[in-house]
Parts: sequence; C-alpha cells; structure tokens
Amino acid sequence: MHEWALAESVLTAAVETAEKEKLKKITEIKISIGELQQIEQDLFEFALNEIIKQQDKMLKNVKIIIETEESVLKCKNCGHTWKFKDMQKKLKENEAEAIHFIPEVAFVHTRCPRCNSPDFEITIGRGVSITSIKGEK
Ligand SMILES: [Zn+2]
Repeated sequence: MHEWALAESVLTAAVETAEKEKLKKITEIKISIGELQQIEQDLFEFALNEIIKQQDKMLKNVKIIIETEESVLKCKNCGHTWKFKDMQKKLKENEAEAIHFIPEVAFVHTRCPRCNSPDFEITIGRGVSITSIKGEK
C-alpha cells in the first residue's frame, strides 16, 4: 500500500512548493514515475484523486499528469550507458516481467552490451518526482 504514502507525500510536497511560491491554487501537477519504480499506477492515481477530494481549495480541480521515465543503466566497468527498454527486447518475456517487479533481478540476467561486465547500476528511472507545478496567484 505504499502508493497511498507516495501519493500523500507528492501532494504535500506540491502544496508546500505552491505555498512558497505564494500560489492560491494549484492547477496542474506533473509527476514523473521511473520505469522501474515498483508502484501500481492505477492505485497511485486512485490514491491521488481520493486525497485531492479531501483537500481544500488549493488542490481543487487540479489536473494530474503522470509520465513514465525511461530507465537508463550504466556499466561501472566501462561507463557505457544503455536503456532498459533495449535490454528488455533481448530478455525472455518472463524475465522482463520479473525485472519490473524486482529491479534487482536485472543484475542477475544482464551484462554490459559493450564489455560484458555484470557490474552496472540503474542511473535513471527508479524514483518518483514532481516535474512541474502550475498554479494561480
Ligand atoms: Zn561495460
């Protein structure tokens, strides 16, 4: 159920930012979710809407835009970077599925396409962040 906690913290952060900017009302919040972030997007959106309903004027009629951020992997050995998507094409379907639930599985099945090292890290696409906030003063 961490979708609820996540939705709550995103909205709290948005409201705090809006208050700092002296906005009376938030009209749009753009949220970016990493491709490998383990959240149920439907549940996350549902949680957002439920919390917004209980909020005061600040978030009334706010438009939520959710974008997916592509994951990028980086080889620790040679510095080569590649996209999770490209890698996914080469995986068997059940492996790709497993990676979506447990990104760490990627470390078992993957090697750097350039130097074949199994030592790499996920540099982009693991978090949830607010990309932009629009509002009225
Ligand atoms: Zn490499």
